[in-house]
Amino acid sequence: MSANDSYRGYRGEALEVLKSHDAMVWSDVEVVTLNGKFTGIVLPRSETADPHHIVLKLRSGYNVGVAAGQITSMAVQGRREAHYKIPEKEFPVDPKKPRVKLFGTGGTIASRRDYRTGAVIPAFSPGELYGSVPELADICNLETEKLYGVFSENMAPEQWIGTAQAIGREIEKGVQGIVIGHGTDTMHHTAAILSFMVQNSPVPIVMVGSQRSSDRPSSDAALNLMHSVKTAAESDIAEVMVCMFGPTSDVYGLLHRGTRVRKMHSSYRSTFRTVGDIPLAMVSRETITPLRQDTRPRRRDRQVTVNTAFEEKVSIVYYYPNMKPDIIDSLIDNGYRGIVIAGTGLGHVNKPLYPALKRAHEKSIAVYMTVQTLWGYVQMYVYDTGRDMMELGVVPGANMLPEVAYMKLGWALGQTDDLAKVREIMMTPIAGEITDREPSNGYLIFQGGIPEVEEFISRYRK
Ligand code: ASP
Repeated sequence: MSANDSYRGYRGEALEVLKSHDAMVWSDVEVVTLNGKFTGIVLPRSETADPHHIVLKLRSGYNVGVAAGQITSMAVQGRREAHYKIPEKEFPVDPKKPRVKLFGTGGTIASRRDYRTGAVIPAFSPGELYGSVPELADICNLETEKLYGVFSENMAPEQWIGTAQAIGREIEKGVQGIVIGHGTDTMHHTAAILSFMVQNSPVPIVMVGSQRSSDRPSSDAALNLMHSVKTAAESDIAEVMVCMFGPTSDVYGLLHRGTRVRKMHSSYRSTFRTVGDIPLAMVSRETITPLRQDTRPRRRDRQVTVNTAFEEKVSIVYYYPNMKPDIIDSLIDNGYRGIVIAGTGLGHVNKPLYPALKRAHEKSIAVYMTVQTLWGYVQMYVYDTGRDMMELGVVPGANMLPEVAYMKLGWALGQTDDLAKVREIMMTPIAGEITDREPSNGYLIFQGGIPEVEEFISRYRK
């Protein structure tokens, strides 16, 4: 290990403290600080990390940052370097099994942590995936391709467009299904834009991620992968979907429509929920159980429409009480062409914003209203204020989720400057983003929750 590697990522104060205690990266240490004692392994840090903290992988599996300035003593007890290599096994090819393509874009699912040290190691070639989840070979012949390696907050038009094009190419080449590994944080954004950019697919397009890395006993990575690969290989639903952990136990995964799904919890594995509807299907390792009939069926042809137009000058404004018009003004002055407002209740903002909204209208900026409540429709006829806003050019966005309306507006403005055409595109449902009605109990049905509630529901549900 080079001198640089011995202290990988450490600078300044943190580096000094490590050196003065003869500790380095992968040292197994007992650290006494003003806040207590910690025992764990010194992890490497990224080059951009701050110079004040030493990061330890604790025995519990959690990582903790210890302030270098608070360390009173550090005893080195040994050294435990991460294993960087997953045993690669050749993925067995069975000509009778369907061909599935797995694209990687990054996120937790694309990596695996060394079980002892917590270092992140990529697991992506078919051989590596097979090495860690051998069950995949029972389902299909898997081909993998890494498109990107980013955490999902870094996904942007370049990656959305690249992914849509890659999907189109692969469908034309003849795969039976597509899986896209993606960070969970913005998976619903990407699912929405792919629902617009890739239309009329003959095969399932399944997005998957994991909330917990595969080193942790509670990881959802392997199960989500198996469910998503099974869906891509066997399901009859040829739509853009998100396939993630269903209930809090690992009984089943859920398939959510790409335009009606949202990450709803920052750390639970059952974080994805269908919003404003019920999920499309349940998937277990054995079966795929449809929960509704209105899904697009799989076809044998290779026709698919890929339209990757996207206007980047679009924004979401999340309204809060006492918002000042300068927020809208700054978007106008910076050349934005579209604004999606997430308004309160049925779709409201305060009166002081009205002059700015009027200005936006005069500058031909497309302004759409959605609701922060997520469930339910924008209703601008109920109160006078709604009617006033419509006169100022604000268009009610029905029950499109704010992020979905943002993606659709970017996509619509990418195709035309004509605001009447944009409106027509926006208000014509393409992939379930606007529905006629929302089931009143949709947020309960099969969406996963506390086991007691699920048991209660299953007892009363016919
Ligand atoms: N921050 C990560 C991401 O969205 C989290 C994950 O992968 O679950 O890329």
